[in-house]
Amino acid sequence: MSMTYENILEKTAQNPTHANLMAILENEDPGFFQALTRYAYDIKIAEVGRHVYFRGIIEFSNICTKDCYYCGIRKSNPLVNRYELSEEEILREARWCYDNHYGSLVLQSGERRDPAFVDKIEYLLKEIKILSKGTLGITLSVGEQDQETYDRWFQAGAHRYLLRIETSNPDLYGTLHPSTHSWEERKRCLGMLRRSGYQVGSGFLIGAPGQTPHDMAGDILFLRETDVDMVGMGPYIPHEETPLGQAFSFDPIRQLTLGLKMIALVRIVLKDVNIAATTALQALSPAGRELGLRAGANIIMPNVTDLAYRRGYQLYNNKPGLDENAREQRVNLEQAVEALGEKVCYGDWGDSLHFKKRQM
Ligand code: SF4
Repeated sequence: MSMTYENILEKTAQNPTHANLMAILENEDPGFFQALTRYAYDIKIAEVGRHVYFRGIIEFSNICTKDCYYCGIRKSNPLVNRYELSEEEILREARWCYDNHYGSLVLQSGERRDPAFVDKIEYLLKEIKILSKGTLGITLSVGEQDQETYDRWFQAGAHRYLLRIETSNPDLYGTLHPSTHSWEERKRCLGMLRRSGYQVGSGFLIGAPGQTPHDMAGDILFLRETDVDMVGMGPYIPHEETPLGQAFSFDPIRQLTLGLKMIALVRIVLKDVNIAATTALQALSPAGRELGLRAGANIIMPNVTDLAYRRGYQLYNNKPGLDENAREQRVNLEQAVEALGEKVCYGDWGDSLHFKKRQM
């Protein structure tokens, strides 16, 4: 029986067709799930090794000009206390990452395109490079911008950018967002980021309302066609103050299983990219991120945002780690990684091997 599983997975690794991927996503046999994650884990070890990289994530503002129907900090949610960290506060958290030998950090916020925001990011990038003597790698995750802005930030020191396409199906995208949000524009942004020179990351909402296995199989092929270097995707978790969250019947086990299956399939199909075990997995199970590593992920993004602000950045309900300070979290995560027989690589950017190979 397990030979049959192996054969299916082998075939998918060599030639991932839409039909194969869909059949795997629809297979609910627990034995198959075990075989899938084991197979993906072996590919991870062969392609990227037993190395886990921490990226300290600073959620520096929850002010957003967009209105995604699933997101707790969408602009139309009047119940959110809006905040924006000062430059000094952000630089203090960046210094913490540097002092604790994190190789990289992520600057994330809601989306804004006004000049003051663009200038602030550019200033922060330059200052972080100075305070870390050029050693901290910087990922940005601040949404859709124009080519000039992406270029400016790249010149100022950012070298990776995460922009989730959320779904590869434009029609589904249309049901998850207001009509003013454009799937085509988002896709164009991925091309602009590549032109600026970034390592480009993308990803999806997994198990979103209305999403089918057909869509999810398409998502994996989208990542492959777009030739991304990094993948950040998380199971959809409803937020009660959003239009979609109110209507969704939520099954945490199903969402966790789907999330792990997608990590495993992305590892099997894309092989040498960086894949994040996201906090959304941990929201579904205390061991969610470790399970993510076991399914093929190799990146963890510990939250280093000041505790005072964390409650303000809830994209979904029951986001974990609201009371765990950056130091406690680092110790807990490190123990969990070591328990898996893997190693946290401090002081190393941990760039996408896929990106490096493309540069050769
Ligand atoms: S998902 Fe991002 S862009 Fe959309 S409302 Fe939330 S923070 Fe803003």
